[in-house]
Amino acid sequence: MKKSSPVIASERNYVIEKEKFVPVSEYYGEDTFNNKVMKEKLPKDTYKKLMAAINEDKILDLATADIVAHAMKEWALEKGATHFAHWFQPMTGITAEKHDAFADPSGVGEVVERFSGKQLVQGEPDASSFPSGGIRATFEARGYTAWDMSSPAFIKRNGISTTLCIPTAFISYTGQVLDKKTPLLRSIRSLSRSAVNMLKLLGAKNVKKVNSNLGPEQEYFLIDMDYFYKRPDLVLGGRTVVGAPPAKGQELEDQYFGSIKERISSYMHDVEEELFKLGVPAKTRHNEVAPSQYELAPVYEEANLAADHNQLVMDTLKYVAKKHRLAALLHEKPFAKINGSGKHVNWSLSDNNDNNLLNPGTTPQDSIQFLVFLIATVRAVYKHADILRAAVASYGNDHRLGANEAPPAIISVFLGEKLTEILTNIEKGTVTKATKEEIIDLGISALPQVSKDNTDRNRTSPFAFTGNKFEFRAVGSSQSIASPALVINTIVAESLDELAEKIKTKDSKNINQAVFEVLKNEIKLISPILFNGDNYTKEWEAEAKRRGLPNEKTTPSALKALITTKALNLFEKYEVLSKEELKSRYLIHVERYIKDLEIEVNCLNNICMSQVIPAAVDYQKKLAKAIIGTKEALGSGAVISSQTELLRKILDLINNIYTANKDIQAKVEAANAIHDEQKKAETLCAKVKPKMDELREYVDALENLVDDETWPLPKFWEMLFIC
Ligand code: ADP
Ligand code: MG
Repeated sequence: MKKSSPVIASERNYVIEKEKFVPVSEYYGEDTFNNKVMKEKLPKDTYKKLMAAINEDKILDLATADIVAHAMKEWALEKGATHFAHWFQPMTGITAEKHDAFADPSGVGEVVERFSGKQLVQGEPDASSFPSGGIRATFEARGYTAWDMSSPAFIKRNGISTTLCIPTAFISYTGQVLDKKTPLLRSIRSLSRSAVNMLKLLGAKNVKKVNSNLGPEQEYFLIDMDYFYKRPDLVLGGRTVVGAPPAKGQELEDQYFGSIKERISSYMHDVEEELFKLGVPAKTRHNEVAPSQYELAPVYEEANLAADHNQLVMDTLKYVAKKHRLAALLHEKPFAKINGSGKHVNWSLSDNNDNNLLNPGTTPQDSIQFLVFLIATVRAVYKHADILRAAVASYGNDHRLGANEAPPAIISVFLGEKLTEILTNIEKGTVTKATKEEIIDLGISALPQVSKDNTDRNRTSPFAFTGNKFEFRAVGSSQSIASPALVINTIVAESLDELAEKIKTKDSKNINQAVFEVLKNEIKLISPILFNGDNYTKEWEAEAKRRGLPNEKTTPSALKALITTKALNLFEKYEVLSKEELKSRYLIHVERYIKDLEIEVNCLNNICMSQVIPAAVDYQKKLAKAIIGTKEALGSGAVISSQTELLRKILDLINNIYTANKDIQAKVEAANAIHDEQKKAETLCAKVKPKMDELREYVDALENLVDDETWPLPKFWEMLFIC
């Protein structure tokens, strides 16, 4: 590429001076109105009431809210905040905020800083421009935001502006859910209820609440900002729609866990500093498989907090990148033929005494409990694999799932050999021989103690048990983790309830025997979802088909799982989403698919017509001139066959690009005449996407022929290797 020479990028490899080292423990969470601050700033009885409201789901009266708001305002002003904002997560998948100044006129020419309990508890943003899937007619466009007390308010700094952000739920005026947080919170509550019931049935005491926990491993790419701004496709759609693979990709495996470059290290440090101030427990950082690809993993947290924090992580990755003159790419597949980015979501359950319910445990009671929760989860995944697949369906993620770097679109569960053997033996009624690591005899038949170390790893599985948690690996890097989490929570809640019913109706001599008998039968039923082998192979695809597992390869077909009677009833029963809300969500996702695809089509069209073809024509002119000139100079004896061949190739490719592009436009226009959104999405997916791939092949072939000086776009090797 002509305009930005590699030298410019490498010159950016400046060293950022650190003012002074401050241990993280001294500033961790300093920008959050957290428990410690509340304890310090609130009168004792206010603090108590607030805690009761948070922990016991009690309503906070307005007088108490006033006191909390006052303390929050004073604290925020000390931090330099001029504004407050209700921070929420509409169906765009990202966060939204509307800022209001604390300053309020108090007389002519005078203001005072004010913030009332009412302003803290409830906001009323105009909701008309957020996706609602038809739930909210524009004439009743009002929506309101409601304070989520369980996630701490925080300070957001942006340049010189400072804002107090209050995490909120977002609901329509008629009470319907318009966001990702509300159903997640509801699913957390439902799962807790079902899990507590199950624990009680199994004989556990002192269990009041069960938390779902999430640890999302965030993958991302970093490229020099110079290159980023010269790629309209990256700026507008997040993905390069054209670009030939570099001569060297990831085949040397020299990036994964490699030493981190200085510029990237400084960036990561800066990101973590920001996250630590916000109380986000960023823990692990490393280079990922693809060139210029990285990962950040936090310590897991309660699901609602983890979902909020993951949004802050994504925001911070992008925001801090700009300061380092980098661009953070969160798209699932920014570069074709190079590994894409996912978000492994680690999920587990723990009770209010901090016991991980997916921990194999050391006593017979723990082991039975473990097996119940393990099998309930596997059973849930088996029963609702289609919904789980739908929860991660997006235009971007379609480029990744099944591309042999990410799990396939077939949802299966990996348990590892040892656990599988234990389950098989339970089913057959044979005793698993206890080895040294699993010494406990459960006193009944064949349940050996399961040790955590009995799990091995299988990177190709979409839903893998990894010791004391499940890892859902099909989530896309840019997606909110709220949707997959609320699906897992809801389906597991149902599964626990159904198992509990079965256990209760067993006429056995004791509860453990009843559990054992139920599990024995369940294992048999759910066995088709268990797969420990290589999920990338063609054989597995065929085998999965034989087992009757769904394999929806595209978003439009996967999304249909959201509106089956099974799904509508499930989410309504567990009070997570009403039928109307779920239908609207389905529609939002279908519409989003269409929009994402059409944005890329427009980008492709612009790039081809205004950048690629003009560059190719320039080169074509140059070649033609050279051929004529050479003929003139040397006469008919000159050997110009190579140039002529090259010229022909260029000309052919230009024609192919022009024709394919025209064809795409016509196909999009035809699809636009379809009124049914599902059919339209399917048509675009089936007709337009393959053509876009074809067009890309022509452009990429051209890129390798045209004079580098003339080529208008940064190339993969530049973007991925110069930093
Ligand atoms: P790997 O890449 O080997 O899978 P990482 O260390 O990158 O492992 O990420 C593991 C993630 O799983 C972290 O976010 C971690 O906090 C999370 N995790 C660990 N234990 C649990 C648990 N019990 N529940 C949920 N998440 C967990
Ligand atoms: Mg990891």
